[in-house]
Amino acid sequence: MRSPILIAGGGIGGLAGALALARTGVHSVVLEQAPVLGEVGAGLQLGPNAVRVLADWGLMDALQACAAFPEALQVRDAQAGQQIGHLRLGAMALARHGQVYATLHRADLHGLLLQAVQHMPAEVSLRLGARLVSLDEEADAVQCTLENGETLRGDALIGCDGLWSRVRAQRLGEQPPRATGHLAYRGLVRTADLPPALQANRITAWLGPRLHAVHYPVKQGEWLNVVVVVHGKLAPDDDPHGWTHEAHAADLKRALGPACAELIGVLEAVPDWSRWALNDRAPLRGAEEQASGRVALLGDAAHPMRPYLAQGAAMALEDAWTLGRLLRDRRGSPDWPTVFAQYADFRWTRNAQVQALSTRNGTIFHASGPLRWARNRAMALLGERLLDNSWLYGGPPDPAPAAPETPLNRKRKTT
Ligand SMILES: Cc1cc2nc3c(=O)[nH]c(=O)nc-3n(C[C@H](O)[C@H](O)[C@H](O)COP(=O)(O)OP(=O)(O)OC[C@H]3O[C@@H](n4cnc5c(N)ncnc54)[C@H](O)[C@@H]3O)c2cc1C
Repeated sequence: MRSPILIAGGGIGGLAGALALARTGVHSVVLEQAPVLGEVGAGLQLGPNAVRVLADWGLMDALQACAAFPEALQVRDAQAGQQIGHLRLGAMALARHGQVYATLHRADLHGLLLQAVQHMPAEVSLRLGARLVSLDEEADAVQCTLENGETLRGDALIGCDGLWSRVRAQRLGEQPPRATGHLAYRGLVRTADLPPALQANRITAWLGPRLHAVHYPVKQGEWLNVVVVVHGKLAPDDDPHGWTHEAHAADLKRALGPACAELIGVLEAVPDWSRWALNDRAPLRGAEEQASGRVALLGDAAHPMRPYLAQGAAMALEDAWTLGRLLRDRRGSPDWPTVFAQYADFRWTRNAQVQALSTRNGTIFHASGPLRWARNRAMALLGERLLDNSWLYGGPPDPAPAAPETPLNRKRKTT
């Protein structure tokens, strides 16, 4: 009898992975360390590539019930306030990339994936309070041990355990993620509490020397998600629970320096800030860093990135979708080492490219002096061409595209 697939981590990537497998009839056990699933994180942007994955899984109604669909991205100078770039989204994203651009709270994305897997209880078992501490790959199975000493066996294991992945450490060595030297302040403000100009259905990105800020609607436009990224480090003894909102707001004000009144107005409206030190890893260097044998990595466990292209969760969804596509046309039980080798070959270069571009965007966003001047000129001259990443938003690339229709196979289909 076949054992289930073990999935370490029940975040966006883990639930998406479980759903993709379930849709092809593969049973998985999701091991999530948290004893309860709570409102973790803040807002997320989902490019058309990520929305395409959700649409393919039949989750558009669920997305519409919780997301916002901004009409445009506006890029502005954080100090002088003038517009330096503009990208139409909404109907234009649909026309250009075949899907819309969405913004939502992470908890809502997690919630809709959770609901989808809970509709498939025969295929997905979710275990909370189950922290994986080690794993052992055998010729025809993978065994993992949980913190409570329990051992589980599966035909294969997918590590979706995020930035500090245990699965990754066991496979590729104990190498901690690298500190970027950037801090993210995140908060939510009720849209109704903002002046009318700030209630527009759009994403605004403010670029300044050594910082940028982004805000966009979530929860169908009822709330505005605000994130500000500045250069800085947390003290080694920083206690995230020991900080008050006033202390965070004062730190942020200091780091922000001179800024235009409209931006200051948005930031002052945020009633409660949380602060995160941002970490990432160098871009993947080869397929074996994404999967080998019976163990695969998915999402941040494989390719954590800076959030400056807004694609970390999107790449986790794309990874999961790709696995599902590779399993779709199989006959009999999957040969996991082969499936994972195809998955890794297919995914690693795109993930590495997105990681590298995310880092580069940070340099461009935070530019000062001549680079800042060149950035603003390029945006003025090239406009939407610079902001619209067709190669990215047109994805995910399909590892198993349907054969194009020819007179011969059309005849075969009808006979
Ligand atoms: C400031 C900021 C803004 C962002 N904005 C965007 C955006 O706009 N668009 C976008 O697409 N992405 C964005 N991202 C990135 C996105 O949040 C992540 O890429 C995404 O959440 C990764 O999902 P994941 O499932 O791989 O990892 P995670 O969400 O970290 O989930 C990992 C899960 O594994 C569990 N776990 C960990 N270790 C173990 C273990 N040993 N055993 C069992 N369970 C374990 C954790 O509890 C967690 O539930 C942003 C990130 C940040 C920090």
